[in-house]
Amino acid sequence: MTAKILVVEDEPAIQELIALNLKQAGYSILCADTVSQANKISNDILPDLVLLDWMLPDMSGVDFAKKLRRESRTKDIPIIMLTARTQEIDKITGLDAGADDYITKPFSPRELIARIKAVLRRRLPEISDEIIEIDGLKLDPATHRIYVWQGDDPAQPAVLALGPTEFRLLHFLMAHKERVHTRTQLLDRVWGDHVFIEDRTVDVHIRRLRKVLESVGKENLVQTVRGSGYRFSVENNEENME
Ligand code: CA
Repeated sequence: MTAKILVVEDEPAIQELIALNLKQAGYSILCADTVSQANKISNDILPDLVLLDWMLPDMSGVDFAKKLRRESRTKDIPIIMLTARTQEIDKITGLDAGADDYITKPFSPRELIARIKAVLRRRLPEISDEIIEIDGLKLDPATHRIYVWQGDDPAQPAVLALGPTEFRLLHFLMAHKERVHTRTQLLDRVWGDHVFIEDRTVDVHIRRLRKVLESVGKENLVQTVRGSGYRFSVENNEENME
């Protein structure tokens, strides 16, 4: 999955340079010159990360970061602040406002991309192409395959056939293992923002996912947490199981 990055920067030359480099790195880019433009864009399309300049014409980047953190729809978006300021106090203000990282101008494109990758890996592991292996289950996002080792022969794993939604669901759950996710959170993060489908849809796909896992005796990895939602766990949480 390609990460969508919203670049909020009022200096055209810098905005262009960033956009060009990020596109080359394989990201999908949305650009805004002002906070009001950034607001409009993020109301339409929820970005996976915001690259936010500190000094903007209509509102400071710090205030926009605070606003994103206050609203439930945008509160989990990773934010990297860009600034020409180098004083320690500004760094603290930016991080207090909820920024995940901080880059001081001038920066090299290589540094910028390294920081973006690090933040995305930490905050949105489900959009990375990194292979995840948990409890004999190996999920490969690049090939969309899931391998399961049951017998003693490491050369002979079973390959699970999952539909695209179940695959994304399992990827998300495995990338955030041991955490409980509500149905609404799963809809937002797996189905996408602005989808108007019922919470019950999540249950349907969880059931399908469990059924496939059942064929290899792994259905207990996807657990129902009564009154809360679902979690992927290698622990035996029987008190929470339904
Ligand atoms: Ca600026």
